[in-house]
Amino acid sequence: MVLKIIPVGPLEVNCVLLADEERGEALIVDPGAEGDRIAEIAGNFRVLGILCTHGHIDHVGQVAALRERFEAPFYLHPADLHLRNDEIWGGFGGYIKALPCPEPDVPLEEGMELKVGSVMVRILHTPGHTPGMCCFYLEREGVLIAGDLLFKGSVGRWDLPGGDPLKLKRSLERILTELPEDTLVVCGHYEETTVGHERKFNPYLRGGIP
Ligand SMILES: [Zn+2]
Ligand SMILES: [Zn+2]
Repeated sequence: MVLKIIPVGPLEVNCVLLADEERGEALIVDPGAEGDRIAEIAGNFRVLGILCTHGHIDHVGQVAALRERFEAPFYLHPADLHLRNDEIWGGFGGYIKALPCPEPDVPLEEGMELKVGSVMVRILHTPGHTPGMCCFYLEREGVLIAGDLLFKGSVGRWDLPGGDPLKLKRSLERILTELPEDTLVVCGHYEETTVGHERKFNPYLRGGIP
């Protein structure tokens, strides 16, 4: 399996290319910016889909371009539909070069499974940062693509439109109690961590969320 983390744009969103080299198939996760660079890296693979963990502009900003280029379906949880082109991001002006985000071709839902080559990706609906926030879990490979649910030593914001601290807490509890300690967590920004490391050291799990 190829798991390539590509930090893109001024907010350094971790776009992820998930691929099976033998079958030549790939999924693109969270193409928030730098669509041309992502397309170049994904170029040799047949892109089966474009998945977004949630609807924030820094994660969906290049979906439109890549969807057209690879003729691949776009996956997003329907609870984040209203966030796609939210005006709050107008404040970023030209800072984030985002294209208007299209309607998803396929709605994500809890428990859904997608296959890329021999790799099985399970969708976990983990609301709190946004209502439709989803994590992508590769159980056999021990990898969780966590979007903005969780960061190394921190958690996603719950104060943006649609954020909910109680739901965030429940989603974090679910991930950190149900998944094995050695699960590699690829976060939506910044460096990777593991479930075990966050169980021990994440300050927000010790009363940091109101
Ligand atoms: Zn976000
Ligand atoms: Zn983000």
